[in-house]
Amino acid sequence: MINLISPNKKQYKANLHCHSVLSDGRRTPEELKAMYRSRGYDILAITDHERPVQHQALSEKDFMMLTGYECYIRPDPSGKYDVYAVETHLNLFAKDPMNVKMICFNDNYSRYLKRDNAVSELVRVGSEKPREYSVSYINEYIRTAKKHGYLVAYNHPYWSMEDEANILAYEGLFSVEMCNYSSWLLNHLEYSGALYDKMLRNGKHIFCHGADDNHNNYPEDHPLSDSFGSFTMIIPEEFTYAGVIEAMEKGNMYASMGPVFHRISVDGDTVHIECSDVSHAFLYTGSKSPQHVHAEQGTSFNSIDFKIDPNARYIRISVRDSEGRWADTRGFFPDEFR
Ligand SMILES: [Zn+2]
Ligand SMILES: [Zn+2]
Repeated sequence: MINLISPNKKQYKANLHCHSVLSDGRRTPEELKAMYRSRGYDILAITDHERPVQHQALSEKDFMMLTGYECYIRPDPSGKYDVYAVETHLNLFAKDPMNVKMICFNDNYSRYLKRDNAVSELVRVGSEKPREYSVSYINEYIRTAKKHGYLVAYNHPYWSMEDEANILAYEGLFSVEMCNYSSWLLNHLEYSGALYDKMLRNGKHIFCHGADDNHNNYPEDHPLSDSFGSFTMIIPEEFTYAGVIEAMEKGNMYASMGPVFHRISVDGDTVHIECSDVSHAFLYTGSKSPQHVHAEQGTSFNSIDFKIDPNARYIRISVRDSEGRWADTRGFFPDEFR
């Protein structure tokens, strides 16, 4: 029997995308840490726009701050925002907590740094030529970030409006945001199950995660509060910075808006799932016909078995609870479950 999610390993709740007053968020890093800690989170990555900063002084034995930032590339060389134009946003997670290298600095993208006179402190690496919205430039950017110790994730595919062909041509991304909650709140379309399946069908070995991307423009009890909506459960061997990064790099994590998986194991041609109470479950395999289970109205279930098609290109499990909140595993390829 193979455990894809082991019942014996502790899962740590993470928000991997978050903005503070260092860019366009409303809360200080200290306030963000206190908010998330009090709501049962174990891990927080404050990923301010174009602003690599480490917040390790806020880490505690039972609460970890991950170092990283969010970068973007726009078609207009001046970096100007255009609500009708595509753009690429990537989250960079530092494998070394003290790594605050700025990848491919460009002055057109440094307004928050300029505001606080922080440009001069930057450790700059990579080409500083003007940013260019092209697959080759973005791939060069990803390569440079990886070379300098970052894991690179693809953010909010719906909001960014990029062509799928472009997204599929990006190389070296370790994970894609399955749900970006602040975008989801505004459009109810920022859930990327279909795109993620397309990536897997194209043979991309990429994981998925969930995040708030909170800016906290509204109080926590407001319907537009963008905190605590979408998260990642990370399952490290040990709760250290290196252990959490290793788990992310190996895909020992899943995305959720609410439900949790307690166990996913494969025994021969059967995958067994134990989870919190849900009303729908799906096994995606890269075919036109995912397997599915649906609860009778007003009921729920917390254990499901699916038979795995011998021709399955991959397996990926999604569950949905009665409030419409999804939880999604990454895709597992046959060499991991056969
Ligand atoms: Zn973004
Ligand atoms: Zn963001």
